[in-house]
Amino acid sequence: MVIDAVGLTKAYRDVLAVDGLDLHVAPGEIHALLGLNGAGKTTTIRMLLGMVRPTRGRVSLLGSPIRPGARAVWAGVGYLVETPSAYPDLTVDENIRMAARLHGLRDEKAVAAVISRLGLDRHTRHRARTLSLGNKQRLGLAKALVHRPGLLILDEPANGLDPAGVVEIRQLLHDLAHSQGVTVLLSSHILTEVARLATRIGVLDRGRLVWEGAAGDLVAQARPRLSVVVHDRPKAAAILHAAGHPTADNGDRALTLTGDRAIRRPEDIATLLVDAGCPPSRLAVEQDDLETCFLRLVGTR
Ligand code: ATP
Repeated sequence: MVIDAVGLTKAYRDVLAVDGLDLHVAPGEIHALLGLNGAGKTTTIRMLLGMVRPTRGRVSLLGSPIRPGARAVWAGVGYLVETPSAYPDLTVDENIRMAARLHGLRDEKAVAAVISRLGLDRHTRHRARTLSLGNKQRLGLAKALVHRPGLLILDEPANGLDPAGVVEIRQLLHDLAHSQGVTVLLSSHILTEVARLATRIGVLDRGRLVWEGAAGDLVAQARPRLSVVVHDRPKAAAILHAAGHPTADNGDRALTLTGDRAIRRPEDIATLLVDAGCPPSRLAVEQDDLETCFLRLVGTR
């Protein structure tokens, strides 16, 4: 495993920011930590990076335990945590060179390559403080990538980027993972932003991992259903059951059907109910969007 965290816990005076988190990320995976504000994403990432000392639990990255003085591991790790920091009065080019030098890198080509990869060519001579938020984020990513790390840990990498920038970063991370085998851990509070990028997703809520699985499984939870409004719900439900359509009556106005047959041919349901003297006043196939799925997982609406 590239990231191994066991029982990771951080207690502040009256807040359990992270509570017994286990995280195992395999090589080449793009793993997203998803959670609302305050769920514990930043604290988790800071513990992984040795910036916050865990109250309990342990972390190893690239097979090396993270502890004070364990320096060798950082050669293989690139990271970006919250607001990217740069020397405000140095130019983009100087900032990236500085980052390269901190890794003992004197390769001019690596600096030029990462500048072009992040689309910062037009800004190389601009001072960092004059950059837009999106370009500051690009500079932060360039600094994280300049030494070609095998593991990238990114806290909300899409922060401050416009929609085109989000797509660009998604493409970049996808390429790094798929063509160069880079392992990526990133955090986000927007499911749709990571649904198509991540291979695995862990959902954090109030410091706990409430769901973990393949990204596709989370997307699949956004299943369609047929919603049927009828005057006499119990009678309609009995008719549908008798015809082999599993039907849920949740006590609100509509009955809900999730069977494939009902969803593929809602007109059959309409005919069935009309013929039985129980005509529906409304019939519609509905589908949760991904955000609703996510909010359902964390138990808020
Ligand atoms: P956001 O997206 O808002 O950054 P997050 O998921 O990254 O949210 P964290 O920043 O990890 O969440 O915070 C988790 C909880 O821990 C919050 O309730 C926060 O107030 C608390 N917390 C974080 N850092 C500290 C600290 N230094 N002292 C006390 N409480 C803290």
